[in-house]
Amino acid sequence: MSKKRDYYEVLGVAKNASAEEIKKAYRKKAIEHHPDRNQGDKKAEERFKEAAEAYEILSDENKRSRYDRFGHAGVGGAAGGGFGGGMSMDDIFSQFGDIFGGFGGFGGFGGGGRGGRRTNRGSDLRVKVKLNLKEILNGVDKKIKVKKYVSCSHCNGNGSEGGDSYTTCDTCRGSGVVTRVTNTILGQMQTSSTCPSCDGEGKTITKKCTYCTGEGVIRDDEIITIQIPAGVAEGMQLSMAGKGNAARRGGINGDLLIVIEEEKHPDLIRDENDLIYNLFLSFPTATLGGSVEVPTIDGVAKVKIEPGTQPGKVLRLRNKGLPSVHGYGTGDLLVNVNVYVPESVSDKERKVLEDWETSSSFEPSKTAKKTVFSKFRKMFD
Ligand SMILES: [Zn+2]
Ligand SMILES: [Zn+2]
Repeated sequence: MSKKRDYYEVLGVAKNASAEEIKKAYRKKAIEHHPDRNQGDKKAEERFKEAAEAYEILSDENKRSRYDRFGHAGVGGAAGGGFGGGMSMDDIFSQFGDIFGGFGGFGGFGGGGRGGRRTNRGSDLRVKVKLNLKEILNGVDKKIKVKKYVSCSHCNGNGSEGGDSYTTCDTCRGSGVVTRVTNTILGQMQTSSTCPSCDGEGKTITKKCTYCTGEGVIRDDEIITIQIPAGVAEGMQLSMAGKGNAARRGGINGDLLIVIEEEKHPDLIRDENDLIYNLFLSFPTATLGGSVEVPTIDGVAKVKIEPGTQPGKVLRLRNKGLPSVHGYGTGDLLVNVNVYVPESVSDKERKVLEDWETSSSFEPSKTAKKTVFSKFRKMFD
């Protein structure tokens, strides 16, 4: 990530620009850099996001004044990983209701050229992505093949042969909307509705594209790389704007929704960002102390066992859990200590244990009360 540009500079407005000027400037930038107009152009996408972020701050009085005083640092502009910094395409598009409100959404863009005023939007697609804890720990780029509707390249997605076999609709003269004025007691009333002749598209196809039979879209496979941030969890849903189905005859693409599935780890249990491991110590190790290895997501950790470690003790290995998906903090690995009691023993083991029993000063009624039962007493007192 390069250094952030000044928000006023991004939108091309003066420092004392009015709210209306800012809105206008952003609308212009959003149209210019809209991903539907600049398919596959990474630079345009960056500019698009940059403008959205600038607008997000400058359109909010509070955030704008903090930005004026403290710069990017005042509005949480520090670069964060994952979802931490910047806006997702989803956020940006949800902002459009405000910017392009009363304008019929973002219809009329995309393939078709001079479009009607009806929003033509492809449907969303949903895919599942299975991840193991190691992938969740680090974040991962997953390539998946998605079967979906894509824009027909023979007609540029407008459904007419060669992309130019259409005329402007006579009924609505290309606007996609018909307006009717009726006289009522209260004065003139104007009602608008989608043009019935062209179904709101503003044009009539004179010869249909033979590849897509006039639909403007065809079924195809697309390989999509999904950037999955670290720290995601089972059932979480990510979305990639514009990666769903293409719309019929121009319009904007639907979104690709990605549902996270988490593979169970053979040894570790996840509890939000913490991990839990059930450790079994032998009786001698619990009694005499020692060093044991505990599995972590990407290897093992050596853990020191103090002499006299009791079952039920929880050891906390800091930051050995999973990172927060929001980019701040990392969970711990909690090691639950158990002491393993053998179900059967060899003759030699039996001998050692019997010797221990007769030589030990251990008296359940006294010793156990002090060490184990005092814990319970505390709980109930
Ligand atoms: Zn076609
Ligand atoms: Zn029409």
